[in-house]
Amino acid sequence: MSPSFAPPQTVPLSRLLPGEPLLLMGAGPVPLPPVVAQANTIVINHIGPTMEAVVEAVKRMAAYAFQTDSRRIIGLAGPASAAMEMAVSNLCWAGRRVLCLKSGTFSGRLGEMAEGVGADVTWLESEVGRPVSLAQVRTAFEAGRFDVVTMAHGETSCGVKLVDLPDVCRLAKAHGALTIVDAVVTLTATALPMDEWGIDVCLTGGQKALSSIPGVSLCAFSDDAWRAVERRPGVRPHWCYDAVRAQRFWGEHHYHYTAPVPGVLALHEALRLVVEETLERRFRRHELSSRALQAGVTAMGLSLFASPDVRLNSVLAIIVPDGVDSARLRGFMSETFRVDISGAFGLNIVRVGQMGEQCRSHHLFRTLHALGRSFVHEGVKLDVPAGMAALEEIVASDPGIFAP
Ligand SMILES: *Cc1c(COP(=O)(O)O)cnc(C)c1O
Repeated sequence: MSPSFAPPQTVPLSRLLPGEPLLLMGAGPVPLPPVVAQANTIVINHIGPTMEAVVEAVKRMAAYAFQTDSRRIIGLAGPASAAMEMAVSNLCWAGRRVLCLKSGTFSGRLGEMAEGVGADVTWLESEVGRPVSLAQVRTAFEAGRFDVVTMAHGETSCGVKLVDLPDVCRLAKAHGALTIVDAVVTLTATALPMDEWGIDVCLTGGQKALSSIPGVSLCAFSDDAWRAVERRPGVRPHWCYDAVRAQRFWGEHHYHYTAPVPGVLALHEALRLVVEETLERRFRRHELSSRALQAGVTAMGLSLFASPDVRLNSVLAIIVPDGVDSARLRGFMSETFRVDISGAFGLNIVRVGQMGEQCRSHHLFRTLHALGRSFVHEGVKLDVPAGMAALEEIVASDPGIFAP
């Protein structure tokens, strides 16, 4: 019997991909170090002594990245949003009171997920371009009781950092609430000591600050958080993202579902690079890279969106001058210079990522030049050489820090 559907036309991947890959300088995914890309091509058995050794090493290195003693660091197949889902759905359920600190798309997503599992969500929103403040959180705790507080350390949609995060976590703890922190763009890019700051669940994805592939993410649970996970009443809403089931694989090496083996191997290499660089040097590289780019962008004549006191060092939001079409600008930049940056969700900004491999000096020079020339092409009067000189001045202050 012949099948009723005719075979469709095929196109080799090489014809779909650009001849020269774009340099990924947007808000993620980010370029992969060669050892990470290489690891991502390997498949081994997901059960057995070799995989056990890999998983144990991933947990040990991730504990350093999170700065935690926790024995419950769980990897999962899925984007960073899946790690958010694991954190939220294991700690929130009908009747739980959740305080969601919202300053943009990603911090808001945590609250949407809490509503999705039936929790009673109170929204605490910031002004546009600002994070939620400690004073707002204090007022919320004076008015009500909460079981869980959710927040993003870095709000990627507008390049804003929750600068009061340590105090917010301390306040939540004093009121007996658990904290969920999205560290997707901040873990290993800036200080985020999970245990010292008393964070209960800290999560990240692969393709942002860690410079690994998208699709394998991490979620670390404190002892307090784990007690709540184990006591969760009712039927668990997710099977794959059930932390208790997932811990069977990540804690005891028993089958849960087939782990995304190449992605776990890639994550191993990404974390190894973090450990070998050391957090101190990696923070400094991110800080200097961001400062250099900020100096270059402003010296050219463009303006930054977030004010300096709350500016994230891993995603830089740049104001698009009136009359410039952001999509056309980015299209020209990709086509002419093979450099890819991000637009935004509703705001008139473009965003340049400063995460992991993006923070190398050769990428900074190429990106700033491409950005400047593209704005000039769109009719904006800019002093591109002044911007390049300002970038060079800061990069030259510590060129060794940028070396791969
Ligand atoms: C990108 C991002 C996410 C979501 O990541 P996905 O991998 O697309 O699910 C969540 N939080 C923050 C802060 C992000 O930047």
